[in-house]
Amino acid sequence: DDQERQEVWSTIEDALLNDHIDQFRAEFLELHPYDQARIFEGLDVDVRMQIYTYLSPEEVADVMEHIDYEEIEPFFTEMDPRFAAQVFAEMSTDDAVDILNELEKDKVASFLTIMDDEAAQEIKDLLHYEEKTAGSIMTTEFVVVKATMSIRQAMVHLRTEAPDAETIYYTYVIDEDKKLVGVISLRDLIISEEDWMIADVMNERVVSVSVGEDQEEVARMVRDYDFLALPVVDFQDHLLGIITVDDIMDVMEEEASDDYSKLAAISDVDSPDENAFA
Ligand code: ATP
Ligand code: MG
Repeated sequence: DDQERQEVWSTIEDALLNDHIDQFRAEFLELHPYDQARIFEGLDVDVRMQIYTYLSPEEVADVMEHIDYEEIEPFFTEMDPRFAAQVFAEMSTDDAVDILNELEKDKVASFLTIMDDEAAQEIKDLLHYEEKTAGSIMTTEFVVVKATMSIRQAMVHLRTEAPDAETIYYTYVIDEDKKLVGVISLRDLIISEEDWMIADVMNERVVSVSVGEDQEEVARMVRDYDFLALPVVDFQDHLLGIITVDDIMDVMEEEASDDYSKLAAISDVDSPDENAFA
């Protein structure tokens, strides 16, 4: 809780004040990014500025993913713009897009200009999807293999993709036209013989959602099918992204509070105004 965090911070703060970078890094990075974010929120700007110089963009990205996006603008404003752009590039694309959606348009444009082309393009593509659709909550860091690969080849590929993938629990199978044709879970991969083919082991009845699908419907499907992630496809069945269950939990919270606001609005209208008949 807060007090515990405060105590932990006072030991880490010493390292920071004495410019002991290695010690600061060792102690700060041992904390979960959620706790790092809570500490971050309570610090003075100049302390945070010092911390940005001690952490990599990737490490700061982990912290930012746990800040309330509606409160996040000051953090990206106080950062060096180049550094901020690198932080965005290191984030999961879905989180980067959610955050950029909270910032002013010209600020977003300036970050995208600094970012390297590939990272910027992926984010630009995602910014186009309409709010509250599958496309707006999906991420593009998924793992794919071809049906013609052996289990051994697939495992080698998975190992190289794993560090940047949103989840490695499901590997999706695509054909030459990049169409989604199958899925295989990590459990299934691990228990298969190395010389078996993906085509023989994969599940061909893939449940997917269309990129324009309403996020509430996506949440319902994740709940009903019990998958940890769902693939998102376009009208030709090309795999565009995945939506993981942790993002669905955010959607459910958002939709619940939307419904609550609607209810509150309705009861406002319905409750007779005492003075109306006076
Ligand atoms: P099980 O629980 O059956 O032992 P598992 O633990 O390996 O399987 P689960 O997450 O429970 O994995 O998924 C169950 C099965 O559903 C796996 O075989 C997986 O390949 C498959 N699967 C995953 N995603 C999809 C999808 N989008 N459409 C269809 N099948 C899927
Ligand atoms: Mg299971």
